[in-house]
Amino acid sequence: MIQSEINRCVENCNHHVLFRGFIPSRLLFVGDSDSDSPPQPRLVSRGEVMASLNWASSSATSAGDVLRYAALSYCWGPPADAQRQCKTERQSLAAHSTNGVNAPSMSAVVRDAVVVVRQLGLRYLWVDCLCIVQDDERDWRDEAALMGLVYSNAFVTIVSLASDTCLKGFLAPWAAMSQIWRTVRVPVENSTLTEGSEGDICFQYSYEFLRDWERSAWSKRGWTFQETKLSTRLVYFGPSRIHFCCDSWLYTSGRSTRGTFERSIIDLAVDKETADPASELLNFWRWALVPQYSTKRFTVARDKLPAIGGIAKLVGDITGFGYAAGLWTPHLHVDLAWHSPPQPVHLSLESLIQSLRPSDEDFIAPSWSWARFPTTECAWFWIGNLAGKNVVAEVKGLRAEVDLIETVSSNPYGQIRGGVVRMEARTLDILQGESCSQRPYSAVGQNLFFADWDVEGGGEEEGKCADNDVELALIGSYTATFERAQETEERRYYGLMIYSAGSPGRYFRVGIFDVPEESEYGVEFKSAEWREIELL
Ligand SMILES: [Zn+2]
Repeated sequence: MIQSEINRCVENCNHHVLFRGFIPSRLLFVGDSDSDSPPQPRLVSRGEVMASLNWASSSATSAGDVLRYAALSYCWGPPADAQRQCKTERQSLAAHSTNGVNAPSMSAVVRDAVVVVRQLGLRYLWVDCLCIVQDDERDWRDEAALMGLVYSNAFVTIVSLASDTCLKGFLAPWAAMSQIWRTVRVPVENSTLTEGSEGDICFQYSYEFLRDWERSAWSKRGWTFQETKLSTRLVYFGPSRIHFCCDSWLYTSGRSTRGTFERSIIDLAVDKETADPASELLNFWRWALVPQYSTKRFTVARDKLPAIGGIAKLVGDITGFGYAAGLWTPHLHVDLAWHSPPQPVHLSLESLIQSLRPSDEDFIAPSWSWARFPTTECAWFWIGNLAGKNVVAEVKGLRAEVDLIETVSSNPYGQIRGGVVRMEARTLDILQGESCSQRPYSAVGQNLFFADWDVEGGGEEEGKCADNDVELALIGSYTATFERAQETEERRYYGLMIYSAGSPGRYFRVGIFDVPEESEYGVEFKSAEWREIELL
């Protein structure tokens, strides 16, 4: 089934390929498909692969066409399992390259992937635990920067939906098949059967693609997100079925019809019919990618920015936009105004501020980046009202600088050491007793405040976001149209709620606000003094 779907895709679809000719730095060579006894899988370098392709006599384009490799997307699982997984480390790199990696020592999920790769007639597999030297920080960072290319150029990406840990395979023995059937004893009445007779009626669960997807531990993990968003051809091994998915269709084994799922970001970005790729990508980033990605879980919290770096690099390359900690620098005046819905766990203003002063080791992202929250959904939902509605920046000299980590090529899309947003802005104190909204929406004539901390759990301060130390920094204005009894247009001011970071002019972002120009705040902003502000 997989082979025929892949063949169908290769023959019929003309999926976009970026950087044809890209070969990962290392690949696992799993043997020739025509050999009866495949050799032990062995780690090969890009150089070796190129030599085997007679690189010297062929062009880069044909090499890319020739080299078909599969990439694996899976969960490492709990730390104890991840620890036991067979990995390439500095001391095993040479052995993995010369003697190979023997099957029994491989983790079950990689072993199963090797079986699939061979059955598909492919010779190479890319899998992070073996193709990246795991205890070499520099190698890890450099390879993480290439991850987007690795997945977007893979001939097929194998997704292990069925296993929540690397120690569990996804092929044999299809144990979870039993979950599809549930037997329920139902008394039969008023039917053509004799009254009182009983029979077994089996209800089949509708285990379709989305159900396999949503129930998987895999779909909740951070790293797997871009692995699939960037892949153009995927085979999902779910607990109940195998699903093939490409930009054109989705096919679930055993079904007679084909559906569609979602287009890959590459397809969206380079589709000739996309009139304005830059704004399409920017919208996609704000409306689809970040809201989904910001809820994903990480074993290592610092991976939050690197694990979406492949997509960010792609967006940056296509649009030419600068990038800083998850925000696009030409649009900082909008991107800074992300919003997080109420915290699922109680987080007081004090603990929020505490969490914004991290030590060097646990620095994830600056306070102005949505990436700073561990697993909280962040989005620009409220700003939907202002998309294309005369958004005007109300700040001067707005710019972001991030402190990159030096590697072979310092990667703006990877992990960072710190970051600061500088601007000249007008600020005001927030009025005592001001209420914070829990749901972001614009309402005509209303002052709206969306705090990053849990205003409902604040005891006496319940529902109030007023605090002597919270200030407002005006960032922009827009015209909103409200359709109620009659259409109303209103000019509104929006900006950040900020809190002193301890030294003059330095602040943390702790929320956003959105007020009518005609409000008390709006009037006061007009005469407020301009101040230099640094957001940490
Ligand atoms: Zn296709």
